[in-house]
Amino acid sequence: MTIAIPERPAVKRKPRPTGLFIPELVFFEPDALNYPKGEQIMQWVKAQNIPYRMTTSHNRITNLPGEGELEQYKIAKRTLVVGLRKTLTFDQSKPSADYAIPIATGCMGHCHYCYLQTTLGAKPYIRVYVNTWDILDAAKKYIDERAPEITTFEAACTSDPLGLEHITGSLAELITYMAKEPLARLRFVTKYQHVDPLLGLEHNGHTRIRFSINADYVIKNFEPATARFEERIEAAGKVARAGYPLGFIIAPIIWHGGWEEGYGELLAKLAKAMPPGTGKGLTFEMIQHRFTKTAKAVIEKRYPKSKLEMDIEKRKKKWGRWGQNKYVYPDEQQTALREFITERIFEHFPEAGIDYFT
Ligand code: SF4
Repeated sequence: MTIAIPERPAVKRKPRPTGLFIPELVFFEPDALNYPKGEQIMQWVKAQNIPYRMTTSHNRITNLPGEGELEQYKIAKRTLVVGLRKTLTFDQSKPSADYAIPIATGCMGHCHYCYLQTTLGAKPYIRVYVNTWDILDAAKKYIDERAPEITTFEAACTSDPLGLEHITGSLAELITYMAKEPLARLRFVTKYQHVDPLLGLEHNGHTRIRFSINADYVIKNFEPATARFEERIEAAGKVARAGYPLGFIIAPIIWHGGWEEGYGELLAKLAKAMPPGTGKGLTFEMIQHRFTKTAKAVIEKRYPKSKLEMDIEKRKKKWGRWGQNKYVYPDEQQTALREFITERIFEHFPEAGIDYFT
């Protein structure tokens, strides 16, 4: 008699949640410790047993460990610098907002295409600022200057501040401050899912939280060290249920083999995952992939195996704001991407608004 051995069933394992960012090394400017937030971060660093050093300026971290440029870059991305924001003149932040509000600079994510690669140059470490009240006082001046118009502030121009919120609490301070300002609005975008500390805050509908989403191909190939799509979407649902204005940024839109399928599936999955009624007031922003020659050189050095297509011959040259030419898709491709994604958005979210395609 032969006994049939049952086949071992395939076990579906739930992927581990993306963890909170824990730096490997922290630098403090001495003055930062005179602020409650600086002291609070110091306590946290000690409790986590993270090595720390003192530094004279958050702009001059020169003694990072690591051999060679690439290793130093990776270590820098896991190094936190706690300091004071001294420049309190805000940059413009078109088309997403009127001004960039600076609460952090640098990010722990490793998105190959990220423009911080070039804008931060030799300082890819993560800087957080403890003098939030000075920053908010500066914001108040801009609000008053522009009254009775509404002034919008983007908190994610130079970082992904949600990924640092468990360390700084700065977004919570900004959200509660802006809630009380009738003529101010805050917005930030994220690729992380750690929204829980923000859900119970009084926001008065003045803060729009946006999640960066993309076709599977883009997230899998170019966005290491960020939260998975499902995690971002689950967080978006929580944010919507907490009454925050919600948005999605599809960026960078990348032309790749199967892009129609990829972006079509993205919008279909999104529609399926969102709580009913999300469409009203929902916004979308679309940004096509672009790069400069400098960015291309930096990316090729830092992510030598990246599949990111940056062939100047296949692109259209566009004059950039910072005096450097950037390379975008030729008009025909741009139109195809914009029209296709716009149609999918309205197919699934007929009540949503599209802020811009750039
Ligand atoms: S999460 Fe955003 S800020 Fe961070 S590396 Fe990626 S694109 Fe850059």
